[in-house]
Amino acid sequence: MSSLADHLRRRINAEGPLTVAQYMHQALCHPEHGYYMNRDPFGAAGDFITAPEISQMFGEIIGIWCAALWREMGTPERVNLVELGPGRGTLMADALRAAATVPGFAAAIELHLVETSPVLRCRQRMSLNTLAADRRPLWHDDFSRVPAGPLLLIANEFFDALPVRQFQRTAAGWRERLVALEGEDFRFVLSSPWEETPPMPRQLASSPLGAVVEVRPDAAELAFAIGRRVTDYGGAALIIDYGHGEHAVGETLQAVKGHRYHDVLATPGEADLTAHVDFRALAKAAGKAGAGAFGPVPQGEFLERMGLSARAEALSLRATPEQANDIAQARKRLLGEEGMGRLFKALAIASPGAAVPAGFE
Ligand code: SAH
Repeated sequence: MSSLADHLRRRINAEGPLTVAQYMHQALCHPEHGYYMNRDPFGAAGDFITAPEISQMFGEIIGIWCAALWREMGTPERVNLVELGPGRGTLMADALRAAATVPGFAAAIELHLVETSPVLRCRQRMSLNTLAADRRPLWHDDFSRVPAGPLLLIANEFFDALPVRQFQRTAAGWRERLVALEGEDFRFVLSSPWEETPPMPRQLASSPLGAVVEVRPDAAELAFAIGRRVTDYGGAALIIDYGHGEHAVGETLQAVKGHRYHDVLATPGEADLTAHVDFRALAKAAGKAGAGAFGPVPQGEFLERMGLSARAEALSLRATPEQANDIAQARKRLLGEEGMGRLFKALAIASPGAAVPAGFE
């Protein structure tokens, strides 16, 4: 058993059950034992694989998207290029290489990476070590630490890792799902009924008995802060993740370990925990801050409109047959309905009055 499990047992014994969001936050981000804090979880030998690790084409297309938006912004002399949760830094390295083909853009970029994990910060530094000394990224724990100014922001599979609270509608009213102890084992239990409806989208408040609703307060707060930034200073954000285009009921919290589903409560800190992203909630929060929101559109459609198939063909022309086969497989995984093409979605947040961003027409 991990020592995070022991830590959580002590905490529950002292303070009572945790909310699902508290449990998820500790499991992923506990400073010592959190899942992300001391490992590189990506790739075949790890727990899961993400789009930038599947193919360089993914990051390249995002780099082109950023360059197009920079032009739309009127080619500002300085722009904060921010990535939330950059993983191995692969996406950013591919994006910067592609963006370098657009004159003036590279020189305007001030690079900011928001990353909680020391191990992954190190990995990101390695991926970006070819950048000139004065082009190197600055790291932050939190988006609020990124200095003011025009913004281009990327977040791939970041919001799905932010903690969710879960509420269940029962005959006695709404109850919150909590993590308690039964002997040494973690168990879900329900809180006593709330007197009022918990904070959730109006459409979900009338869900049928038994329904579970997930809400993600940190995500809404962050989308609001991003919306505020682009409203005040100009710019745009591209958020790609898996989830629902509209508010939806249902429990989606899941654990993944070694490329397989895993029990959410079995080994806290040793499996990745994620839940579907509610894109409508992000769009609304950004809108409240005055920003425009576009999409979400399915990832497959977004990448296709941005020219992924043409890029795949161009790469295949100078590839060995084996490499060409890999490129075809990657294209299918990123675009295909059985792959990431439909479940994954892209949402753009942009300054008020901005033109429809590339890929969202
Ligand atoms: N974008 C990358 C990695 C996705 S995994 C890719 O597509 O491959 C999630 C990333 O977010 C990891 O880098 C993780 O360490 C980071 N992360 C998770 N929760 C975080 C938080 N609350 N604050 C900052 N970074 C976080």
